Amino acid sequence: MQKHILSKSTFIKGQQCEKALYYHKHHWELRDQLSAAQAAIFAQGTAVGELAQQLFAGGVDCSPESAYEFRAAVLRTKEEIEKGTEVIYEAAFQFDGVLAALDILVKHPDGWRAYEVKSSTSVSKTYELDAAIQYYTIVNSGIDLKDISIVHINNQYVKDGPIDINQLFTVQSVKESVLKLVKDIPQKVSKLKQVLEQKEAPVIDIGPHCSSPYQCDFSGHCWRHIPAYSVFDISDLRTMKKFDLYQKKVLHFKDIPADYPLNARQWKQVNCELQNEKHINKPAIRSFVNGLNYPIHYLDFETFATAVPVFDGSRPYQQLVFQYSLHIEHENGEIEHKAYLAQTDGSDPRISFIQQLLSDCEDQGDILVYNIGFERGKLEDLTKYSPGHARQIQGLINRLKDLMLPFQQQYFYTPEMKGSYSIKYVLPALVPELSYQNLNISEGGTASNTFAQMILGEFCGNVDQAREDLLAYCQLDTLAMVKILEVLKGV
Ligand code: SF4
Repeated sequence: MQKHILSKSTFIKGQQCEKALYYHKHHWELRDQLSAAQAAIFAQGTAVGELAQQLFAGGVDCSPESAYEFRAAVLRTKEEIEKGTEVIYEAAFQFDGVLAALDILVKHPDGWRAYEVKSSTSVSKTYELDAAIQYYTIVNSGIDLKDISIVHINNQYVKDGPIDINQLFTVQSVKESVLKLVKDIPQKVSKLKQVLEQKEAPVIDIGPHCSSPYQCDFSGHCWRHIPAYSVFDISDLRTMKKFDLYQKKVLHFKDIPADYPLNARQWKQVNCELQNEKHINKPAIRSFVNGLNYPIHYLDFETFATAVPVFDGSRPYQQLVFQYSLHIEHENGEIEHKAYLAQTDGSDPRISFIQQLLSDCEDQGDILVYNIGFERGKLEDLTKYSPGHARQIQGLINRLKDLMLPFQQQYFYTPEMKGSYSIKYVLPALVPELSYQNLNISEGGTASNTFAQMILGEFCGNVDQAREDLLAYCQLDTLAMVKILEVLKGV
């Protein structure tokens, strides 16, 4: 058996961008480093795939020993089918130089059915194409497939006791779409094979395809001619417009034509940058600051989410609170700090989170958060989770105010904010001496993954150190708010 030329994933990569496929095969060294967040997503996908095997228990696993032994996996799959095995995991097939490894192949009374597992919550066009290349390879390998389905997560499932995998997963046939797509597969395969035989990479410029349907892992290489701060960073500018400017050879703000259709907010970003000017609306800031009631509570939540719910009464991918930091500023200037970080002993933290939050907050004073929709949404979830605390939690919700507002409304804008009103941009612009850079955990995604790994028993580092890092990160989030308000008060 010849070594395969394309796999299911390289076929999909080639459909997104032929240059990405070429680089993947011939210039692997140009690839971006896998981030910790991407690695966590892959690990989650693997875990979901293994769990879905229980939908058809007792199968034989044909996974190759290593990424280089797919031919052995193809032969093993063939042997198992001939032997009469009725459930095969990671069934591998090769046809016309294309290798496809299917998550689950099952022999039902009416014939073979294929199941591909995805850890997302719906079926996308890319998944249908992914199923089509599998269908093409499997059917042409001599298997009479009766159906092909995507198995995905049902985000309406609420855990109640042990995981009910029949409720957790939704099995959705995609055969109808696949039969339409499969007609074009031979021609697409042949085109991609030609691309791979070329001496040079295809000439393809950057475009919206670089991040759709997936973020391309050669972006660092292809986008290296784009300045660190460019038209691609104009706030809320649609992707098509960014590439319209790019195609007009406009990369720097100074080259944007004066009549280009940007909105007022976007022009403010551009002009403040070009003139190195701050924009400060003193009356609006004064009114915001004077409207705050002491003691001012600066509050920030951290959450985590898993594909497979961990606690009863929670859904797949539901964001669950596990940590908060609270600075309380009294009218006399005194500031105190309180914090909560859930245990990772397998118990549901939500009740202890609610109890400590209610006891840590004073009975009066505003509760200042950064991006009110997030904390309000989590508090509303908690009222549903614990109706006995609903009235008190609603009391907290009624006291919420948003420190993001003066920046979102551009009452205060400086060029250092680079068009963003995220606290990660606002803080260095207003309080440059306070930075996340020296922290071991310096952004919410890492905090969330760290806690999720600890609760799932998958964390490999020093747990005590990680807990200290989480506390330090969240504390800085609310200290940052204290310092930002100080600057606004100074205005
Ligand atoms: S970054 Fe864009 S142009 Fe470059 S290989 Fe990836 S998709 Fe293609």
